[in-house]
Amino acid sequence: MSELLPNLLGDRWQTGAGRGTPLFDPVLGDELVRVDAGGLDLPAGFTFARQTGGAELRAMSYAERAGLLRAVADVIKVNRDDYFAISTANSGTVSNDTSVDVDGAVYTLGVYAKLGATLDAGSLMADGEAEGLSRNGIFQARHVFAPTPGLALLINAFNFPSWGLWEKAAPALLSGVPVVVKPATATAWLTQRMVADVAAAGVLPPGTLSIVCGSSAGLMDALEPFDVVSFTGSAESAAVIRSHPAVTRRSVRVNIEADSLNSALLLPGRDAQALALLAKEVALEMTVKSGQKCTAIRRVLVPAATYGEAAAAIGARLEKTTVGNPRNADVRMGALVSTAQKASVLEGLALLRNQTEVLFDGGSRPLIDADPERSCCVAPTLLGTRDAAGSDAAHLVHDTEVFGPLATLVPYRDMEHALALARRGEGSLVASVYGTDNVAMAAAAADLASHHGRVHVISPDVAATQTGHGNVMPQSLHGGPGRAGGGEELGGLRALRFYHRHTAIQAATSVLDALPLSA
Ligand code: NAP
Repeated sequence: MSELLPNLLGDRWQTGAGRGTPLFDPVLGDELVRVDAGGLDLPAGFTFARQTGGAELRAMSYAERAGLLRAVADVIKVNRDDYFAISTANSGTVSNDTSVDVDGAVYTLGVYAKLGATLDAGSLMADGEAEGLSRNGIFQARHVFAPTPGLALLINAFNFPSWGLWEKAAPALLSGVPVVVKPATATAWLTQRMVADVAAAGVLPPGTLSIVCGSSAGLMDALEPFDVVSFTGSAESAAVIRSHPAVTRRSVRVNIEADSLNSALLLPGRDAQALALLAKEVALEMTVKSGQKCTAIRRVLVPAATYGEAAAAIGARLEKTTVGNPRNADVRMGALVSTAQKASVLEGLALLRNQTEVLFDGGSRPLIDADPERSCCVAPTLLGTRDAAGSDAAHLVHDTEVFGPLATLVPYRDMEHALALARRGEGSLVASVYGTDNVAMAAAAADLASHHGRVHVISPDVAATQTGHGNVMPQSLHGGPGRAGGGEELGGLRALRFYHRHTAIQAATSVLDALPLSA
């Protein structure tokens, strides 16, 4: 039987009481390790995190906590090769895709370490300037953010076992809030190893970083009023979390990042440069991490007259994507993470095909070094709704997220129609816009803003330096309204607000001037 990975709780490594759930290699099908959270005393572990880990963190300044993030990043850098090996085995990713997860985590930690180092020594963060409350102006209100005295429970999805942990842990730890991470079971190994390495290096105070792998049972029950939950995953699980008594009765704050039907929009007109940029980005988004990115482009909105040309341009790029075993240097795209995901993607593809035509079918070519039955490799497919009327009628395209290497080309009549189609995603993480007319691009961005957490505008002058439609940069907001969960993560120091309580302090100016404000 494979190794049963222990959990870190209450500053003790503890093995679950059950036999464990096995994790598999999605290319070879081999069992790798097992995880189990049965029998853990979650309330005691959470109390230790709040009382010991939280107190240690809050006794430090923001700049000192920024130093902790720097130290964590250094541990990850030292063990990078191990993480790449685990990711190849458990996530089936080629090294470029592992890099997005592992190096992306180091980069995010580095950005927060730098931002934290700019904060002064105080224990509170200021929100704006003082506001006068009295006629003589001496009695004023100052709004502040104080670190929440609870813990942050991070419940993560399977697609980013590394970045998913650190993009949340960085702002939490910088805020002075201890972290308990619950990785998705299918790919929990990488998260568990990173926590083990950071714990072994002794760079974080006891109780500041804990991990529970395996079943999520009991996690929400153990939460108290000042705790927060940052959840990434499906809308179904999000609904369960939102309706838990910890949230409805104990006011535990929740941030939800759920599924999203992101779009890419080619502006009207025949613009070869913009079309080339769109085709490149769409093909990349369909294939990086085999399309298992919450921010990936799912709907490609193009002028109806450009439909055939766009299909050909995207298809020509997808043609170059070799699919198979990530251990083979000729392979550009690896596997989906599990047989369950493969079944779900194939089911979603079959569903969408009822309302679309196939414009590119990567499945007609053989896999490299991978068994089509045993492996979870799925080649990219580009679908299309044929004409503008088809784009309106194909409701599945606008409400079914297929979490794999799949996108649908959606032709539109005019700009009004294009924007209306984008809005049919009912709130998305990101939309990208491609064009060469600055005024038209700005107008599109302004219109898309209310329905998206991020609008990514690509014009030829930024083509070489833009950060990518699907890449989540720590400096920019990540999250989206409506269906995308309504959450907000990252965005530089804005992310710290979620881990702080907002308070108005009303006092004499001289008292307010003495507040321990860090910025
Ligand atoms: P999922 O089944 O909802 O699982 C997400 C996490 O929640 C896992 O850790 C899971 O644990 C845990 N979980 C499940 N039920 C729970 C409950 N009742 N209470 C507490 N935790 C619970 O989602 P998934 O299939 O892993 O992820 C795919 C989805 O995530 C996609 O729809 C994708 O769009 C979305 N996603 C969104 C973002 C974003 O930033 N917006 C990023 C990545 C993915 P187990 O694994 O042990 O079941």
